[in-house]
Amino acid sequence: MTQDPSRRLLRGRILTFYAEPTDAADTSAYSYHDDGAILIENGTIRAMGPFAQVAAKAADVPVTDHRPHLLMPGFIDTHIHFPQVQVIASWGAQLLDWLNGYTFVEETRFADPDHCAAMARHFFDLLGAHGTTTAVAYCSVHTASAEAFFAEAARRDMRMIGGKVMMDRNAPDGLRDTPQSGYDDSKALIAKWHGQGRAQYAITPRFAITSTQAQLEMAGALVAEHPECYVQTHLSENHDEIAYTAELFPDAPDYLGVYERAGLLTPKMLLGHSIHLTPREIAVLAETGAKPVFCPTSNLFLGSGLFDDAGLRGQGITNAIATDVGAGTSYSMLNTLSEAYKILQLQGQKLHPLRALHWITRGNAVALGLDDKIGTLDAGTEADIVVLDSCATHAMQLRMQRAQSLSEELFILQTLGDDRAIAEVYVAGRPTKSTPPAVLTRELCATD
Ligand SMILES: [Zn+2]
Repeated sequence: MTQDPSRRLLRGRILTFYAEPTDAADTSAYSYHDDGAILIENGTIRAMGPFAQVAAKAADVPVTDHRPHLLMPGFIDTHIHFPQVQVIASWGAQLLDWLNGYTFVEETRFADPDHCAAMARHFFDLLGAHGTTTAVAYCSVHTASAEAFFAEAARRDMRMIGGKVMMDRNAPDGLRDTPQSGYDDSKALIAKWHGQGRAQYAITPRFAITSTQAQLEMAGALVAEHPECYVQTHLSENHDEIAYTAELFPDAPDYLGVYERAGLLTPKMLLGHSIHLTPREIAVLAETGAKPVFCPTSNLFLGSGLFDDAGLRGQGITNAIATDVGAGTSYSMLNTLSEAYKILQLQGQKLHPLRALHWITRGNAVALGLDDKIGTLDAGTEADIVVLDSCATHAMQLRMQRAQSLSEELFILQTLGDDRAIAEVYVAGRPTKSTPPAVLTRELCATD
């Protein structure tokens, strides 16, 4: 009998979530199989469960044995900047200086389509290497950057969400659009890319400081015309930013009110940072279903502040979590959880490892309204899967010898794990680790 190459049976330990678990006793929230299997067909998960049970339905399907590794849904990063792969790890600034001194300088390079295409290859190589199979990305102001982003994602069949930033003031020459051109370019990108394969568009006014009222209103028009698209921006990251926003929009009730008046707030809106919020802003978030995005490594790196996860959750708000590279200091969602844990510790809040691993898989999928497609290993969902090696490093091996439970193992992964713990990544059912990464030239590695 000939084997169908689109069918594949993965064997290993398997963990997937059905709901957000509070702790290990909450066993109805997740399913764990010590010897499990996932049957993949045409990029989709057909069955998941105990190996003997799933294998019985797929006698002719070749088995890839990942034991003793742990198979989970691919990680989801809900806020990252594609043009900042050469900005990450830039020294010594807080938000506004960091934007002007590093980020805007770098983003001007994305006027060149060849640069965009090269950086897109690096960007997706990096995401894959860190186990991230879906990301919500800011491109630069240039249409070419969004074109390169979506073209490279399509080539790899990755589920990606992105958009060109709209910014018409407080940015250098070459990095500003206009209310009309930002609208027209976004509209053309939506028509070309949204719903093409696995691509989805995010309408992306960068933040209040870099958009005039006229531009925010044009973004609001796009949101009204394209309710199928996401909306993303930044909110209340840093005190100087909040004060400057109040100066620029003296009539707005507060920072969130600027976006609210422009008609941007919907359940499909993602608000990066959302740290220093007023009670009114929190009430508006709860009422509209817009989603704050916690960016732990970025908030620590820029000294922005401590995200109040429990406070927002207590108001019924769904928080997403993300790297925010390049202000974020790691592409790894595991590393992101490690820093999230510490930020919550400083506020007397707890992050149980089961809830943590849920957050970067099903939790972020729920925040995106995509949990019927990604973030779980349920039959019928897209086969984006990460294979985790809890003994990837010397330190992890030693610590794992004392681990007594799944929760302990997950906490070791989130505290000590990074790209070294990613043994394999399947995107739409295909293994990607065998694909050679984009080659770095000497020129790229030079410091002058
Ligand atoms: Zn950001």
